[in-house]
Amino acid sequence: MSAPAPQVLTHTRLACFRACPRRHYLRYELGLRPEATGLALRVGSAFHRALEAAAKGRDPEAAIAEGLDDPFDLALVAAMFDGHQRRWAGAGLEVVASELAFDLPLVNPASGAPTPIWRLGGVIDAIVRLPDGRLALLEVKTTSRDFSPGAEYWLRLHLDSQLSIYVIAARALGYEVETVLYDVTRRPALRPFKATPVKARKYTKDGRLYANQRAQDETPEEFAARVGADIAAKPEHYFARIEIARLDEDLEECRRDLWIQQQTIRACQRGRAWYRNPGACFEPFACDYLAVCQHRDLDTQTPAGFVRSDSVHPELDGAAMSGG
Ligand code: SF4
Repeated sequence: MSAPAPQVLTHTRLACFRACPRRHYLRYELGLRPEATGLALRVGSAFHRALEAAAKGRDPEAAIAEGLDDPFDLALVAAMFDGHQRRWAGAGLEVVASELAFDLPLVNPASGAPTPIWRLGGVIDAIVRLPDGRLALLEVKTTSRDFSPGAEYWLRLHLDSQLSIYVIAARALGYEVETVLYDVTRRPALRPFKATPVKARKYTKDGRLYANQRAQDETPEEFAARVGADIAAKPEHYFARIEIARLDEDLEECRRDLWIQQQTIRACQRGRAWYRNPGACFEPFACDYLAVCQHRDLDTQTPAGFVRSDSVHPELDGAAMSGG
């Protein structure tokens, strides 16, 4: 009998397991996912598609439209992408590779031997050459969190294992990156204006609606113009880039952490025991599985509002993998 194919360990999968093993079980062992995609994921994915298209000489607008149906979502991402292009037009980055998918052995740091159980996978946003000639790993994020100077957002990055994993992967693929350039774009909090309900409308003596009320819903074009103007007026509110160092010691620590975590996941797989972490149910966001976490029949029943898929790493589907 041939050995089973190795499983794929990604940063996202590891983060899911660390947050709540039960969530990891539902998502990565059973393949259950919510049918609807949240705004954060829709916007982040479309923004990445636009950047990749621009880096590869394709049409960013078409790339944004590929996965978005809602014209207001389209308008939001188009304004973010346009603002990002303007903000960093003079940064002097040369894109060496973009959307670089990797599939690498996961190695025991003590013995140097790879495990046959796991492969290390992921997608690096880009490898870029900085104006001073150094190669950097470019990591792009969209967020609604505060990333003003001194915010907690930046402190956490120095501990972020994703960056260490991606530096390890980039070097394994032959890109001798010396630093990480972290690029953050704020997801605008602006939402389309709705018409004022008829009963709530108030009029001036000469029959005009009050200035803060509307007779009609805002159109996607009006919304796009409003978001674009807000981004243009406050570029430092919407965009930031910082360099983050990764020392050899950080990478060694990351290799040890990866090994311990794969062993822990294996222990749960062997024991068929996936404990819950109620501390992660609402923080930092409401868990996708809150409504079904208590169900006893999820091994066989797919609850309403969810889909079950054999592909538990959709971000890697169709990617041209590089690795050893
Ligand atoms: S609802 Fe809470 S316990 Fe259940 S999977 Fe989500 S985080 Fe874990």
